[in-house]
Amino acid sequence: MEPREKEREKIIETAVCPFCACLCDDVVISIDEAGNKIKEIRNACTFGVEKFLSAGRSERRIKKPRVDGKEADYEVALEKAVSILRVAKKPLIYGLSNSGYNAQQVALEIAKLKKGVYDISESICHNFLYPELKKGEYPFYYALLDEIRDNANVIVYWGSNPIESHPRHLSKFSLYPVGRYAMKGVMDRELITIDVVESELKKVSRWFLQVNPGTGGDAKIADLMKRLVKGEKDIAAIDFDTLVVKIADRLKRAFYGAIFVGLGVFSSENASRKVKAIFALVDALNKEGVKFVMFPMKGHFNVMGAVQLLLRETGYPFGVDFSRNRLFEPGRTTVLDVIEREEVDAALIIGADPFSSFPKDTARKLCDMPIILIDPFESPTTQFSSVVFPAAITGVEAEEIAYRMDGLPLKLEKIVNCEYPSDKTILERIHGKLAESV
Ligand code: SF4
Repeated sequence: MEPREKEREKIIETAVCPFCACLCDDVVISIDEAGNKIKEIRNACTFGVEKFLSAGRSERRIKKPRVDGKEADYEVALEKAVSILRVAKKPLIYGLSNSGYNAQQVALEIAKLKKGVYDISESICHNFLYPELKKGEYPFYYALLDEIRDNANVIVYWGSNPIESHPRHLSKFSLYPVGRYAMKGVMDRELITIDVVESELKKVSRWFLQVNPGTGGDAKIADLMKRLVKGEKDIAAIDFDTLVVKIADRLKRAFYGAIFVGLGVFSSENASRKVKAIFALVDALNKEGVKFVMFPMKGHFNVMGAVQLLLRETGYPFGVDFSRNRLFEPGRTTVLDVIEREEVDAALIIGADPFSSFPKDTARKLCDMPIILIDPFESPTTQFSSVVFPAAITGVEAEEIAYRMDGLPLKLEKIVNCEYPSDKTILERIHGKLAESV
């Protein structure tokens, strides 16, 4: 019995975890092929394990396609979805940060075909990064995670707590791994945390600076550090905080440093000012001869794929409106704005839950239009959708390509079989039928 059982076991040594944008590529999974079940997972964090195991848990899955709240088969759902998009004057195509690159491409073709709006979560999470980059005031000092792991001896997390959001970021890319110039791993590195709240990260940080949001916060600290790095003499005594001075001094003495900036900065009040001030600090460090990079902490596992695709195809990172001459205008062509101004008249949502993540008033306006949803899981959005397609879980039940947070493309494996088509297949069917009638 035993050898036969063994024959049925398949081991994948380098599976890529499709939960967060770290895309850890060292996950070992053993599969009972006969039973189509995952038997064991090694190296993934709890988020990753939960994501892989979600394939075998039926409670949260969408079981059948639905049309107007009633169960239907895929063909009926497909006809209804196509009929909605066919008559739509300007549909919104949104989500896709939890989809593979190939699915993102097909969705983009639908947006082009229908002259609709194509937007992704980046539009809400990191929208202040790009206008600052576009101004070109400061160069974008950036590096692959492997370069940071090899070289960095000073690591800063600013408005970010990877222990909660990206649990293996510290061990794979920043603080703990052995690098070419950090051969003793954590012994050769120092961690600095700058945040408005204390977190677990404080325990492993050499320096922890708590930001007071009421006093100009992060922007003021970044600006003060920049002036200290530049050696300005006229800094008013009132500006001095000993810890800020010590940290600025540490940054200046780094061999190579990385500042990982999180949503605590990007999604906060006056984010634009803060991002600009951190850019200026990184620029000042580089001009003083200290190699430093600024690295935005991306969340969803393939948000970078969506950004790369849009940049390649249109030159813009998110929020593109194919009905206009000027495709990209943050505040006009971006998802929240086109819904609030009632410019779109149907929505095709892929792997996102706007009814949990959008402001209430915006979500309410979404209810006024027909929604087509493609998702493996039930969510508040399923209840408000005219058409719901259950899909395979990308990277667990369907293979795909995803881009790590630093832009490195990686292949996601199909680990187990499932009864549902991939989001790419559903999008291809929708696109095919729409193309016939346009
Ligand atoms: S850190 Fe992210 S990618 Fe890595 S195992 Fe955890 S959830 Fe998966």
